Amino acid sequence: MQPAELITSEEKILRWWQENRIYEKARALRKGGKAYAFLDGPPYATGSIHMGTAWNKILKDAYLRFWRMRGRDVWDQPGYDTHGLPIENKIEQQLGFKSKADIERFGVANFIRKCREFVEKFVPIQSQQFANLGVWMDWKNPYITYSNSYIEGAWHTFKMAFEKGLLYKGVFPVHVCTRCETALAYNEIEYTTLTDPSVYVKFKVKGRPSEYLLIWTTTPWTIPGNTAVMAHPDFEYARVKVGNEFLIIAKDLVKTVLGKAKVEGQIVGTMKGKDLKDTEYEHPLLDLVPALQNLRGAHRVVLSPRYVSAAEGTGLVHTAPGHGWEDYQVGKENRLPLVSPIKQNGTFDSSAGKWLEGKHAKAADPAILDELKKRGSLFHVDSITHDYPKCWRCSTPLLQFSVPEWFFKVEQMRKQLLAESAEVNWIPKWAGDRFRNWLESLGDWPISRQRYWGIPLPIWEDSKGHIEVIGSLAELRKRAGLKNEIDLHKPEIDGVKFECNKCGLEMSRVPEVLDVWFDSGAASWASLGYPARKDLFKKLWPSEFQTEGPDQIRGWWNSQLIMSMLTFGRAPFKNILYHGFILDLHGVKMSKSRGNIVAPEQVIEKYGRDVLRFYLLSFPPWDDVSWNWDDVDDVFKLFTIWANCARFVEAYVENKGAKRPARLNIEDEWILSRINSILSDGTKAAEGYQIFKLSQAARDFVIHDFSRTYIKLIRDRVAPGYSGKDRAAAEYALVTVLRILNRAMAPIVPFLTERIHQNLLRPLEKRESVHMLDWPEADKKAIDKELEERMAAALEISEAINGARAAAKIKLRWPVRKAILVSKDKVAQAAAKDFASVIQLLSNAKEVEARTAEPREPSGMPINEFGRGKVFLDTTRDEKLIEEAMIRELIRKVQAMRKESGLNVKERIVLRLKGDERVLKILKKWQTEIESGTTAKAVKIGELEGERKGELDFEGRKVSIGF
Ligand SMILES: [Zn+2]
Ligand SMILES: [Zn+2]
Repeated sequence: MQPAELITSEEKILRWWQENRIYEKARALRKGGKAYAFLDGPPYATGSIHMGTAWNKILKDAYLRFWRMRGRDVWDQPGYDTHGLPIENKIEQQLGFKSKADIERFGVANFIRKCREFVEKFVPIQSQQFANLGVWMDWKNPYITYSNSYIEGAWHTFKMAFEKGLLYKGVFPVHVCTRCETALAYNEIEYTTLTDPSVYVKFKVKGRPSEYLLIWTTTPWTIPGNTAVMAHPDFEYARVKVGNEFLIIAKDLVKTVLGKAKVEGQIVGTMKGKDLKDTEYEHPLLDLVPALQNLRGAHRVVLSPRYVSAAEGTGLVHTAPGHGWEDYQVGKENRLPLVSPIKQNGTFDSSAGKWLEGKHAKAADPAILDELKKRGSLFHVDSITHDYPKCWRCSTPLLQFSVPEWFFKVEQMRKQLLAESAEVNWIPKWAGDRFRNWLESLGDWPISRQRYWGIPLPIWEDSKGHIEVIGSLAELRKRAGLKNEIDLHKPEIDGVKFECNKCGLEMSRVPEVLDVWFDSGAASWASLGYPARKDLFKKLWPSEFQTEGPDQIRGWWNSQLIMSMLTFGRAPFKNILYHGFILDLHGVKMSKSRGNIVAPEQVIEKYGRDVLRFYLLSFPPWDDVSWNWDDVDDVFKLFTIWANCARFVEAYVENKGAKRPARLNIEDEWILSRINSILSDGTKAAEGYQIFKLSQAARDFVIHDFSRTYIKLIRDRVAPGYSGKDRAAAEYALVTVLRILNRAMAPIVPFLTERIHQNLLRPLEKRESVHMLDWPEADKKAIDKELEERMAAALEISEAINGARAAAKIKLRWPVRKAILVSKDKVAQAAAKDFASVIQLLSNAKEVEARTAEPREPSGMPINEFGRGKVFLDTTRDEKLIEEAMIRELIRKVQAMRKESGLNVKERIVLRLKGDERVLKILKKWQTEIESGTTAKAVKIGELEGERKGELDFEGRKVSIGF
């Protein structure tokens, strides 16, 4: 089989499914069955799919198909994430925008329209790409996060949080992308490597001439926000004389710090950190920064055993509560003022002083260092290369500063979140541990974003600070007396105003939109139209199955759980299959810049969809995949073998609908036991969301058990013209195996199995498509594990015999008189007895003898050792064995000639053979064997005729061949 053949057939099947509405029919067939609540993690509708998203959907599809075959009424709605920076950034790029000012100039309404057009265009394109992988989902009815009904689902939760007192407006440091001009949540932060200044600054101790606290920072722009210095209460601090000055530094760090600055110094005294408590200092830039002036309780030493380490710096930590989470915590404990003189776009505001106003914080580092140097406060400047947070969408390095934001009180929910997550079935278990670790570290969730294309915060506010939260469109209509249809996005929603119930002042919506993770977090109910409609929610919530990648620990699963706890007090999911990333062969993440991307289309063009699917479904999904083209090629080879097996059945089985005969040969019992074992184990694996075990088992089965062993064993039993009693049993076994295999593999390789179904099995299965069949039930009575074990031993014995043959250079076609097994292994002994016929056939030995002791005269006998013992070959030949070897060679020669001349197996030939007298005698004696071996219509001995001629020379016995 050529790849092109596979690909063409897949395209034909895709069309056939569509033209005959096979997907719709397969769904309709299960209507009314027990519901299967699947929830699709919504990808961003940003254009084209990649290998990661393809893998994700293929995994989902395999399980949806499996459960559908199990009779479940599968909810297979796909979803798309359509709001937020991922989309806004695309439009900004399209329009060449650099900042929010560009958007405002362009007009918010125009910008929103562009965003909407973008997702409207790409949702169907992306659906088409997924469908092309053979993914059967309800592509005509996806849930889309920008629809009004979806927005209502999110508002509902928002209002619940408000009513439960879990929403507040606060000021504390958050990570801000100054290009996107918005705060980001902890799960939106990625890291990059940056080089920053590494700065040692002297803070003069009040009332002590020439004495300084030495602090260290890598963010000089936060020095205008400094309100304290942290010391560790238990550390030993040294007073170090350097020149005419005294510096206070943690004793253990003195050598390192002085060494870096290349200065000499002497320790002239020591003290405990706790003795430094409340030591006041003069901020070196105080007179230049209005925000630092007239503060209460600022600029003193505070103690923190948690955040001061002796690993780096000076042991005295620069503390700016407006610019760091840890600083903020310590600030709260010590009632330090919070100073954050920075605007959303990252520039200093007027409270930083004229000298900094309007400058971008990072760009102001040199000016700040210059000023410190001028004032003699700079002890040493160096540089440092470290991990630094960056924006997940535009890669701009983030700054931490404080702007007023709306927060959810997540920290106080932690206990319930942890308890609820323990109820979820995580596959594998350790993914659940990861999730719990993540939950342990949760802080309050900043949910407001100063952006445009998103779910608007449903908060209305008046100038007195009275607020009202709206939970649905109906509520808003009533409250604001709306008559017309309204789109719930900016700027339209911002035009909706109403009077305050308390004071009569006008209430306007706050300008922010929601964190986009809030959108997808509501998916399990908003996708079902809840709260407006309740019927689907009743049937399909919580979701039974979700599968996504590692990002969703802190992303989607995080926001889903928090929001579901807020709304319903329980987790929205029951089974979660965690999958990894797709990497290149060397384990490196695929990326455009590295040029190591493998696109799904590439694989489809080269090998087709099913090869891609099987490959991706054949290993534990929780491990990262290192893409390996050689393994992909092996999948194609497997398909070739599989297709050949199907063709073999098609060509040789005369009665495909045969019932099980009363008597089976032992090899038939074995192959039926094997396929049923695989089915039984595979069913359990698929139920436990480990379908890769089924793929792996099926692969081994097709290659080793079915193709290389069973078909070899029964070839003669289904040869044309053979009419022995055991023919029916072989035909029955062949068809049964193929039928089970085809059904069980349908979720994994829907095209290949459909093709085999249409070409061969449809009249037996009596359904239009393989995907309308039920999942096969394993025949428990057919399973005999001991039999399988004995057969495995028989195969090992045969292999050992063939190894001995190879070493002695005896062709497999030439029979040997006897193979002797010497083994104390009980299974091997039983195998040699029960499977003697199999071993004889596979190793072409006339007799198999099993012993526990070695034969007395083994000299000259070829020997081979294997796991279960030893085999000896009795190679003595009598005339009969020689003749048989000759006849085997003759048959092989004739078959080779047929193949060369392009005749197929069904074309019967009249074979003519000639030779000297001795040869003629032999040929006559073996006429029947020659006839059946070559499937010749007739064998005429003593004449030579025909278009095709050849000759066999077997150890001096010459046969002329013609047909
Ligand atoms: Zn950004
Ligand atoms: Zn009011």
